[in-house]
Amino acid sequence: LRVLKDKGIVSTDEMRRVVEEIYSETPTNGARVVARSWVDSDFKERLLNDAHSACGELGIDTSDINKLIALENTDSTHYMVVCTLCSCYPRPLLGQPPIWYKSFPYRSKAVTDPRGALLDLGYTPPEGIEVVVIDSNADCRYLVVPRRPAGTEQLSEDALVKLITRDSMIGVADALTPEENEKVVVD
Ligand code: FE
Repeated sequence: LRVLKDKGIVSTDEMRRVVEEIYSETPTNGARVVARSWVDSDFKERLLNDAHSACGELGIDTSDINKLIALENTDSTHYMVVCTLCSCYPRPLLGQPPIWYKSFPYRSKAVTDPRGALLDLGYTPPEGIEVVVIDSNADCRYLVVPRRPAGTEQLSEDALVKLITRDSMIGVADALTPEENEKVVVD
């Protein structure tokens, strides 16, 4: 970017706008998609069949991603996403990837010892569940739809959004229960 600026190709203001756009994308977009899928089973079906157009229904532009696929975590299958080569990530939905996602220990251990990699991040998947590791790449990015926590049947879609963490949409955690959410301190 500095080279572009020094050569007068882009101005400081243009650069600032691009950087702000990149960082303005937050996991909230992904959480909105997941919450809608929890409350609307028809939407969930559309999401699992064609994630691009389902996100578009919520005004989220995923055209930067060549192929976006949503994977639903169930009581029998737990998906977790890694990019073994670099740090491919569904940025329009989740913003910037966390440091650990880009780290070599996560990228390698997710493949050789997925449960160990999850434990390193403080997560133990439910007993007896099959953990499936999905390798993201430049062509294909994934959004995990976490299991809907018990005791959330009465919650509104907006209240559900708050339970859906970034990590739960990478598949390295579960969505928060309402009780856990109460304890989260936002700094
Ligand atoms: Fe990558």
